[in-house]
Amino acid sequence: MGVKTVTAKQIEVQRIVDALSKAIAQHRLPPGMRLIEAQIVDALQANRNHVQVALQRLAMQKIVSIEPNRGAMVAQPSAREAREIFTARRAIERAIVESITPQTMRKHRQRIAQHMESERKATGSTDRRAIVRELSDFHLMLGEICGNSVLADLLANLMVRSSLIVALYQRNDHPPCASDEHQDIVTALEEGDQGRAVAVMIEHLDELEGQLALEEPAPPEVNLKQALADL
Ligand SMILES: [Zn+2]
Repeated sequence: MGVKTVTAKQIEVQRIVDALSKAIAQHRLPPGMRLIEAQIVDALQANRNHVQVALQRLAMQKIVSIEPNRGAMVAQPSAREAREIFTARRAIERAIVESITPQTMRKHRQRIAQHMESERKATGSTDRRAIVRELSDFHLMLGEICGNSVLADLLANLMVRSSLIVALYQRNDHPPCASDEHQDIVTALEEGDQGRAVAVMIEHLDELEGQLALEEPAPPEVNLKQALADL
């Protein structure tokens, strides 16, 4: 049994997947936007076959949808899917926070401090794209430092999909996260108070979900008998 080698094709497909995921997460490509292969080939200087494989992979991750005869487009998660994603985030991010010890925090002290600094800078600015990126990077950073790559991968997928949800359902123009809650989570983790870190994280995610307008359109309440009376 040899070591499984990563082929040049796999690396190239991953590059395309990463570029598209990032553009979608940063709202450069909005939900529902058509993803025309030839344009991606051009923009990313990629091979058409690699682009097709990348789009199929993103479709499996529910970040892109591929419809017969219409091709690929950026996914448009339904309100129901949005709620399911938040339920999944509560479970995954609880597990992530629970696996971060004060030692983990010390080991990654520099990276965490750097992130908190650039997050503060972004939220103090009017650069909405930077705000969205930094706030989302906080969650991804916790996933990466927690030491469980399965949790990190699951969260990375959920974060791109969350970004689609925010683009579709955010009620107001508020940034999707409050930065002081992030700081509270960091402080609790540094102090080894995972119970409090989990509580703040869950409350934070509840609040984010609460900022979304996730009502399914109500079925019209029409009384058939009245509607057809007096014609
Ligand atoms: Zn947040």
